[in-house]
Amino acid sequence: MSTVVATPSHSLPGSRELTLIGGGHAHVLLLRKFGEEPLRDVRLTMVSDIEHAAYSGMLPGHIGGVYGWAEMHIDLRRLCSFAGARFIHARACGLDLGRKHVLIGDGTSPLPTDLISINVGGTPCMSTIAGIDQRVIPSKPVSRLLAGWESVKAAARNSMHPPQIVIVGGGAGGVELALAMHSQLRGKAEFIIIQRGPHLLPGHNLRAQRILTRLLRERKLTVITNAQVVEVTPDKVRLNDGRLLTADFIVWATQTAPPAWLAESGLDTTPEGFLRIKPTLQTINYPWIFAAGDVAAIEHQELPKSGVFAVRMAKTLGGNLRAYLSGHGPRDYQPQRYSLSLIGTADGRAVASYGCMAAHSTHFWQWKDRIDRRFMRQFQELPM
Ligand SMILES: Cc1cc2nc3c(=O)[nH]c(=O)nc-3n(C[C@H](O)[C@H](O)[C@H](O)COP(=O)(O)OP(=O)(O)OC[C@H]3O[C@@H](n4cnc5c(N)ncnc54)[C@H](O)[C@@H]3O)c2cc1C
Repeated sequence: MSTVVATPSHSLPGSRELTLIGGGHAHVLLLRKFGEEPLRDVRLTMVSDIEHAAYSGMLPGHIGGVYGWAEMHIDLRRLCSFAGARFIHARACGLDLGRKHVLIGDGTSPLPTDLISINVGGTPCMSTIAGIDQRVIPSKPVSRLLAGWESVKAAARNSMHPPQIVIVGGGAGGVELALAMHSQLRGKAEFIIIQRGPHLLPGHNLRAQRILTRLLRERKLTVITNAQVVEVTPDKVRLNDGRLLTADFIVWATQTAPPAWLAESGLDTTPEGFLRIKPTLQTINYPWIFAAGDVAAIEHQELPKSGVFAVRMAKTLGGNLRAYLSGHGPRDYQPQRYSLSLIGTADGRAVASYGCMAAHSTHFWQWKDRIDRRFMRQFQELPM
């Protein structure tokens, strides 16, 4: 990956530098807003390791053949250009907290800044597993998932016997992915979902769990609960109870783990490495560093790692960055008590799960489709 300065920002001498690290859900909304209501005397920069950010709400729909690639990706260069921001195509690899530098690429290119916002998401936790190889397809980054999905499709097309696909992680993301892949490979591949706990979709109500468990059974996807993959061998996975399962491909969709460089930079993190932040979305010891989305852990709050929360944080994040720059006090982010999840079932229907209620219908898919398309339109139809 090269470091490319794509668009000059509207900077003035003496202006301050605001650096957005990562093109996550909160940052794309922030750029959209800053494009409409520009920040004064601020040079805005986005550092992103990719040029097109994936919208996860449409990811299973893309795999299931409903949405094209462009429909679920946000062109970050174009968005930066709209927001008058500089786009730097590079991976952030650290922070020099004393000098207020963002380190990018191989760490030898420091980027001086005054204010930082971090929205880099995470990747599924695989660090403790022995034997991870190229058959393992992580659900994040999305580009790797999609490249892996192409190999799965090719193998299903060309192989004499149906490949066996093991999906590790039975949360909403893993189940939605399994259903979407199955809808495309019906009869040409076999699927096994491995779930660590006793039920699929932990964090969702019993009714949603039952609906999706029944659906998987009807479509002949195997579910193994109370099991963990502890080793990946050349053609199998080993479970913690010693069982060996044939695995031609392994899709890893377990819970999110944060990137290691955040803790290594000296920022205050949870034991798992998530950035500890205040309800104002400022990091504990550095009020000039903000964070949002999956990577952030708000003190004394246990929020699900979901795009919905990253999206909702955007408003508070934008307001507080503006407030910080103009010397005003920040506001607290107020998370909603319950959030509605709409889980596509790859048959023109979706399961709606909210609090202790759940239902399955075409109506919920149409609703989800409308929400997701409306979200994406904000970035596809930028005002002149
Ligand atoms: C299959 C699947 C389906 C899902 N469906 C839903 C859903 O329907 N609804 C929902 O709410 N959630 C869903 N999720 C969860 C959702 O994907 C995450 O919670 C959400 O993406 C988190 O958003 P974020 O803004 O924190 O970060 P992300 O969306 O992960 O974005 C982070 C960005 O930062 C970039 N980045 C990372 N590291 C660096 C770096 N060092 N330097 C520069 N850039 C960097 C990444 O490339 C990425 O573009 C799903 C997840 C999966 C796996």
